[in-house]
Amino acid sequence: MTGIGYLLHGSHEETQRLMSEHAEGELRGYTRWRVSRHLVKCDMCRALYRSFLEALAALRKLGRAEPPPKPEIADSVVARIRESEGEAGS
Ligand SMILES: [Zn+2]
Repeated sequence: MTGIGYLLHGSHEETQRLMSEHAEGELRGYTRWRVSRHLVKCDMCRALYRSFLEALAALRKLGRAEPPPKPEIADSVVARIRESEGEAGS
């Protein structure tokens, strides 16, 4: 579907493709605005984006902590990711 809907809200495909650039703050102007707007409107892409950000943050923390000063830090990151995924376990 082309037209005003796409211009205003983008698409799942575009949003997911640009997610990493959006997270890095590399998007500019209209594209950035459209991705943000899509994320506001779209539960599916917002959930994906949120887990993407958490994974990114976890990777960065792990990357910086080289060697990890405390193994518990990595464990708590993993625990936080699991928590935010809403997995109750069983
Ligand atoms: Zn979407």
